[in-house]
Amino acid sequence: MDREKARGSHGKRLTRDELQSIVSFCVCFQHQSQNRQLHTQCKPTARHTLDLRKRFCSCVRAAVLGVFVLIPFGFFVLLQAPSIDWESFFHGVEIPDAGVEGGPQLIMQDEDYFKQLASIFTDPNPRLTSSLADTGKPPADPLVYKPTTELTLDKEFDAEDAKALRSYLRYTTAASYVSVLPGDDFGAVMLPMFTDLYGLKERPARWKKCYGSTKGAMGGHLSQLYIKHFFPEANKETATEMLNNIRDQFRSNLETVPWMDESTRPKAIHKLDEMVFEVAYPSEWPEWCEITGLKEDTFFENYRKVEKCRFSKEKKRVREPVKRRAWTAAGSTDVNAYYSQKVNGLFIPAAVLQEPFFDAKYPSARNAGGLGAVLGHEMTHGFDDEGRQYDAKGMRHEWWDSKTVKNFDDRAQCINDQFSSYTLDGKPVSGKLTLGEDIADSGGLKMSFLAWKKGKERTPEEERLFFLSFAQTWCGIERTKAADTGLFDAHAPRKWRVIGTLSDSEGFSKAYQCKPGSTMNRGPKSCTLW
Ligand SMILES: [Zn+2]
Repeated sequence: MDREKARGSHGKRLTRDELQSIVSFCVCFQHQSQNRQLHTQCKPTARHTLDLRKRFCSCVRAAVLGVFVLIPFGFFVLLQAPSIDWESFFHGVEIPDAGVEGGPQLIMQDEDYFKQLASIFTDPNPRLTSSLADTGKPPADPLVYKPTTELTLDKEFDAEDAKALRSYLRYTTAASYVSVLPGDDFGAVMLPMFTDLYGLKERPARWKKCYGSTKGAMGGHLSQLYIKHFFPEANKETATEMLNNIRDQFRSNLETVPWMDESTRPKAIHKLDEMVFEVAYPSEWPEWCEITGLKEDTFFENYRKVEKCRFSKEKKRVREPVKRRAWTAAGSTDVNAYYSQKVNGLFIPAAVLQEPFFDAKYPSARNAGGLGAVLGHEMTHGFDDEGRQYDAKGMRHEWWDSKTVKNFDDRAQCINDQFSSYTLDGKPVSGKLTLGEDIADSGGLKMSFLAWKKGKERTPEEERLFFLSFAQTWCGIERTKAADTGLFDAHAPRKWRVIGTLSDSEGFSKAYQCKPGSTMNRGPKSCTLW
């Protein structure tokens, strides 16, 4: 359900509770470091930290909307982000020859993110953003950060800037370790924010923490145990068969889609045929980290050892050939699925092959509307507004005819406009931000529906069950504040994922006999891309 990008929680709206959490965090720090200053002395630093955090968040928002750029790193660094000390950075992460002639060439994933990040390092002084901080509200267009004062690249970096930045970095580093820090102090200070956002009444039970940290540290081992003890192998076979049927359907669609020219068409079909499927668990289990010296009573130190081991393994990959079938950190126990543009691969963890998405006892309509639509969704990511830019091997370049690109964009714009017309609690959904997911939802629904129907007599009841199952996949409730943060998510709010996608679907309006122009049948206004 996710494309490989930073998004979601990082881009969430900031609240006063977060400020309170930062203040309390700061107090905790001073307490732990024996430097007992007063709460009031901590507050200005916390305010600055919050300001900076807002600016960092707005960078991430820009990144969500940005495009991938393939440029040699050194070239980019000089041009776009000169204020970041890249040399120190690459020495710090022990890849000193990155961007240097003959060294490994790295891919710059998002130009805008680094540009904005560089401006913070040039001038992190929160005075510039005070009007934003005081209102506590996100900028008018939540996706674009506009500084209230022009930022200049030649401003001298003064002591106050350095202090604010240090404070911010201290806070974010500590906050990232909150679940593994000893004692209850640090975790407790975050609770008010989670209560406000998610209605959490108390800190999660200890077993959940133990499970989460074991999964984080040894996800591969945990996946193997899960597969061995709980996963029916037949589910893998069924899911693979569903995937192959959906791919056949997608191929038929590519063969006939009227807006694609005859030079692009065979290349697009080739990309689909080259797509790698990894279902349930890795076809080849990776080598694990060799972690030594773990002790029963030093949780935090154990965690750091695992982190270090993982980092050195990741670092090695910089110089190794790409393994198209290698899974990301996500293992078989994740209830999720993802498509990777860079390897043209589809990864379906075992844990998603269960209720409510799939069950061997369910009627086929229910499995096709649930899991089938998810599989089709992931496959369509290979051909959404971003995915289409990558070729069969995951290289990004323009391999489509320009007229076909224009036809694609026109149809994508229809979906963009449709979702931009929706609101959540009076706030607009950004159809531009959610475009790739909306394209994937509608393509996935259609391909799964047609694949399930192919060569079979399906009754109207079965067809209605198919669409009901799709809708139930996204059914859920959220607190208003948590839902608000969802407006920064690349997925449309759940309600609109269901209504938006189904009201464009010809199959749905036939099955439920919705009249053209009614809420659930947009009729001539319907958008169809794939
Ligand atoms: Zn998705």
